[in-house]
Amino acid sequence: MSDSYFDSENNSHKSFELPGAKPHYNPDRPGQVEHIFLDLNLDIPNQSYTGICTITLKPITTGINRLSLDAVNLNIQSVDIDGTPQSFDYDDAKLDIRLETATEVGKVIKIAIAYLVEKPQRGLYFIIPDDHYPNKPTQVWTQGEDEDSRYWFPCFDYPGQLATSEIRVRVPNNMKAISNGRLVETKEDGKSTIYHWLQEQVHPTYLMTLAVGDFAEIEDEWQGKPVTYYVAKGREEDARRSMGKTPRMIEFFSEKYGYLYPFPKYAQVCVDDFIFGGMENTSTTLLTDRCLLDERAALDNRNTESLVAHELAHQWFGDLVVIKHWSHAWIKEGMASYSEVMWTQEEYGNQEAAYYRLLEARNYLAEDSSRYRRPIVTHIYREAIELYDRHLYEKGSCVYHMIRAELGDDLFWQAIQTFVRDNAHKTVETIDLLRAIEKASGRNLLFLFDQYVYRGGHPDFKVAYSWDSDSKLAKVTVTQTQVKEGSNTDLFDLKIPIAFGYTQEGKPTEFKTFPVRIYEREQSFYFPLAEKPHFISFDAGNNYLKTVALEYALPELQAQLQFDKDPVSRIYAAIAIATKGGLEAVKALTKALKSDAFWGVRLEIAKNLATVKLDQAFDGLVAGLQDENALVRRAVIEALAQIKTNASYKAIKPFVKNGDPSYYVEAAAARAMGAIASVNLDEKSKEKKTIKLLNIVLEKAGWNEVVRSGAISGLSQLKTSSEALDIILQYTKAGVPQALRLAGIRALGTVSVGQNPVNLERILERLDQLSLETFFLTQVSVVVALGQMETIKAAAILNALASQTPDGRVRRMAQEAVQQVQAKVGSEQATKQLREELDQLKKDNQQLLSRLESLEAKSASS
Ligand SMILES: [Zn+2]
Repeated sequence: MSDSYFDSENNSHKSFELPGAKPHYNPDRPGQVEHIFLDLNLDIPNQSYTGICTITLKPITTGINRLSLDAVNLNIQSVDIDGTPQSFDYDDAKLDIRLETATEVGKVIKIAIAYLVEKPQRGLYFIIPDDHYPNKPTQVWTQGEDEDSRYWFPCFDYPGQLATSEIRVRVPNNMKAISNGRLVETKEDGKSTIYHWLQEQVHPTYLMTLAVGDFAEIEDEWQGKPVTYYVAKGREEDARRSMGKTPRMIEFFSEKYGYLYPFPKYAQVCVDDFIFGGMENTSTTLLTDRCLLDERAALDNRNTESLVAHELAHQWFGDLVVIKHWSHAWIKEGMASYSEVMWTQEEYGNQEAAYYRLLEARNYLAEDSSRYRRPIVTHIYREAIELYDRHLYEKGSCVYHMIRAELGDDLFWQAIQTFVRDNAHKTVETIDLLRAIEKASGRNLLFLFDQYVYRGGHPDFKVAYSWDSDSKLAKVTVTQTQVKEGSNTDLFDLKIPIAFGYTQEGKPTEFKTFPVRIYEREQSFYFPLAEKPHFISFDAGNNYLKTVALEYALPELQAQLQFDKDPVSRIYAAIAIATKGGLEAVKALTKALKSDAFWGVRLEIAKNLATVKLDQAFDGLVAGLQDENALVRRAVIEALAQIKTNASYKAIKPFVKNGDPSYYVEAAAARAMGAIASVNLDEKSKEKKTIKLLNIVLEKAGWNEVVRSGAISGLSQLKTSSEALDIILQYTKAGVPQALRLAGIRALGTVSVGQNPVNLERILERLDQLSLETFFLTQVSVVVALGQMETIKAAAILNALASQTPDGRVRRMAQEAVQQVQAKVGSEQATKQLREELDQLKKDNQQLLSRLESLEAKSASS
C-alpha cells in the first residue's frame, strides 16, 4: 500500500517523499483549548526545570473520558482536573489521561499537569559556558515550530488549536525573561526574579516562547507600542544597526496588510547557538545572534535586514492569521519571503526588488532541478519540518508575486487585506486565500494555483525570434521544453506579455506590448509591426516563475542588455550573449560590466563573462575588480577563480594581502587563491606560497569569522595537500570559534577528494567523532562534509547519524547525502566495498568464534 506514495510525478525528478512518508491530518478535537498557563522554575546550572502546565479546555461533546496530550520526554509528576487527581498513562510521547468524571459539553475543565525536565534535548535549550567555550553567555531559549513545543510542556501540539497563554517563570536576579504578550508583573524574591507574561490574543502552541539571559535592552517604539531589541551586553550598537528599521517596517506592513500591528509589543531577542535564522513567536521574535552586524559587515550584508522583515511579516502571516495545518505553511512562509521583496522595493527601489525576486526564484529552481520536485501543498511527508524547503519559501513567494501580476497592484492589496481582515485570530487553509481573492477582486485564480501550488514544476521556455522585413512581421516561437514531444503532461497555460522595444538616442525606450496565451508545447506568434523592433522582451516584467532561454540574434540581445528597463531581462540577455560566445559577446559584456547602472546586472555579467573561454574575457573581468559595489567585486573575484591562470592569481592576490572594505570580498579572494593554486600544480612552489598566504589570513579574527572561513575554504581547494589538511584539522577542534570551526568541518569534505588513503582515514575518523556532537549546526556541517566524500565509508557514518539525530532536518539531509555519496562512488564499487566489509566481518566473526571455542575448551579443561 505505501508504495503508492513513492510515485514520483515526474520521472526525471527525485521524489520528495522518502520511505516512511504518509498522509498527515490534524487530530480530532475533544474540545477547544481556551488558555494555557505555564508556571516554571528554572534551575539553569543543572539544566533542568519544574513546571505546572494548566490547560483550560472547553469540551465539544459530553461523555469524553480520555484525553491524549503530546508530551515528549517530560517527567510527569501528577495530573489534576479541577483540583482532583487523575490517573494517567505516559509513554514518553503521549500523555493519556483517564478522566475521573466524563466531560459535559461546554463545561470548562482545568487540567493541571506537574512535571519536571532534566537536560532537555529539544523544545527548550540551555546554553551554558564550558571548558572549551568559557565566554559563552548563559541563556535559555525555546523553539516550538514545528512540533517541538511538546518537548517543553504538555499540550495539544498542532496549529489548529488557538488559545491565549500565560508564562510565569522564576529566573536568577541577573537575568531577564522575555515571553509572548505583555508583562503583567516582575517580582523579586531573594536571589531570583519572577517574570509574569500574558498573551491575550489567541495563538497556537508552536508560537509560545521563552528567552532568558543577561541581555542589554534597547528600547524603540511604534505608535506608542514598545519595540525592544535584546542582545548580549556590548552589542548595543550592532543591535541598532541591525534591527533599527523595525518601527518603519511595522508601519509599512501595517499599511500594506491593511491591519495595524496586532500585539501589545514587538520584541526581538538575539540568542546564542540558535538553530534557525529567526523564529516569529507571537510578539517575541527570536533571532540568531550571528545576524548582528558590525559596521563593515553592514556594507554588503542585506540578509539581516531581510531576516528582520521576514519575521516581522509573520506577525500577521502566521501569528495573526494562523495556518490550520503544516501542509498550508506556504501561506505564511511564502508571504514572509515575499515581504522581503516588498520591503526591498520600498527601501531600495524596483530594480533591487526585481533582482531579489530572481534570486528567490533561482533558489527554488536549484532545489527543483537537483533535489526533488513536489506540489507546494502536500500532507504526505515523514516529518512536517521536511516541508520547510525552497518550494515552501521561495516558490511560495513567487506565487504571491504571480497573484499580484494577475490582479494588478490595487486589487492584489485589496485581496491581501480582505484575507487578513476576514481571518484575523483564526486558522486558514489555501482555499481561504483563493476565497479572499475572489471576494475582493471577483477573480478565480484556481487555474494558477492548480499549475503552481497543487502540482510541482514550472514552465521552461525557449524563445526564438525572427523578423520578416518584406511583410514587416515579427515571428516569436515559444517552446515549453519541460514537455516531451508528443506529450501533454506538464504543460502550462498562461497569458504572457511579449513586448517589442524601440530605442532612440536621448529618448526613453518605447514598448509595444502584446499579451499572448501560451498553452501548447510549441507555438509561433506573428506580430505585424510598423518598424523592425530593436529588441524583444519576453514576459515583460518577468512576473511569471519560469526558466527562459533566448534564441535571438546578437544585435537584439545587445540592444536588450543595453536598453531593457527590467534588470531581469537584461540578465537573461547577458546569459544568452555569453552562451553564444565569441569576441563580440565578450565585447558586449565587457562594456555592460562597466556601464550598467544596477549592480545586480553587473554582478550577473561578471559571472557570465567567466564562462566565455577567451583571453579577452579575462581583461573584461579584471576591470570589474574596481567596481564600487562590494557584491560585484566579490562576483568578479569568484569569476576570476574559474579562470585558473597566473594572471588571475596575480589579479586577486592584492585583495588577500591588502584587504578590501568588505569582509566577504576578502573571504572570496582567499578562497579563490586556493582554487587557482590547486590547478597550477606544475608549480609546487605556488601551493607552498598560497598556504603561507592563507596562514597569514588565518591570523585575522573578525566578524562572524567570515574572512578566516574564506581562508579555510581556500585551503580546502588544495585537495592533494597534506599540509592543507593538517591546518584544516586544527580548526575542527573544540575551542575554535564556532563559525570558524564549522567552516573547518565542512572543508574536510572538500579537501578529502584528492587525499591519500591514510589521510582519508584521518578525515573519516575526525568526522565520525564530530558526528557524535549534538549541536544542530555541527551536525549539519558534518553531513555537508561527508556528502562531498567519495568513499562508501562516509555513507556508513551518515546512516549512523541519521538514525541517532533528534533533528528531522539533519536526518533528511544525512539520508540525501548518503544518496550523493553512493552516486559518486558508483554502485559497483559500493557493492565491492560492502562485500569486502562483509568478508572482513565474517573473518572477525570467525576469529571471535575461534577464540570463544578455545576459551570454552580452556574452561572445560580447568
Ligand atoms: Zn518564516
